[in-house]
Amino acid sequence: MKTGNLIIGWLYPELMSTYGDRGNILVLKKRCQWRGIKVKIIKLDTGFDKKQLSMCNLLFMGGAQDKQQQIVVSDLMEKRTELKRMIENGIPGLYICGAYQFLGKYYKDADGTTIASLGIFDLFTVNPGRGFSRQIGASAVQLPNKQIIVGFENHGGRTYLGKTVKPFGKILKGFGNNGADQTEGAVYKNSFGTYFHGPVLPKNPGFADLLIKLALEKKYDSPINLSPLDDSLELQAHTAIINTLKI
Ligand code: GLN
Repeated sequence: MKTGNLIIGWLYPELMSTYGDRGNILVLKKRCQWRGIKVKIIKLDTGFDKKQLSMCNLLFMGGAQDKQQQIVVSDLMEKRTELKRMIENGIPGLYICGAYQFLGKYYKDADGTTIASLGIFDLFTVNPGRGFSRQIGASAVQLPNKQIIVGFENHGGRTYLGKTVKPFGKILKGFGNNGADQTEGAVYKNSFGTYFHGPVLPKNPGFADLLIKLALEKKYDSPINLSPLDDSLELQAHTAIINTLKI
């Protein structure tokens, strides 16, 4: 199959989008278009219709401050059943920082308020509060396939994984899930949670393509080989960060 089409659902673009996260949507869109894959982006803002969610082949939600997470949570919980069905069914997705925290069982924020979460990923997050430093800076992680992903973190929450999710990768530089156990992010079925903002996809084009490939394979129920693109600029950015971090 040379082309195809995808619907990308962008969850809470107004409230859940920090540190350049919207750049991930631009990358997914352009990398599809450059290959002749038709792509439609549906913005799923507060109060969206669940039917729109069900149409999506790929999901994205960015990060936010605690305040925005408190605003979004009630709307998100109304959509829990459908989101869970989609994630369990292997609909791929990328969930950054606050969105990643939302996939877990709960997030105890900097004020000690427990924000209910979707309970789809076996993990929980605790923000130890104002006396503790936020985990900020450029980071890198190594995936199980040895690929290196670079990103930028800025979070107060510390995330602890349960047994049924795997870490996205092992921290090479930075803090990752909690600054202690060397894990970063989590993977469950075809859904990826990570603390990496930046945005993460422009400087990790292989990760962007993995999401596109998974979405097409799920939609068309057949193996997909994406045509290669000229990634020289993207890879220069990737290498520059690795060099700066002295990995
Ligand atoms: N508010 C959350 C925290 O501080 C998430 C931050 C983010 O998404 N950048 O941990």
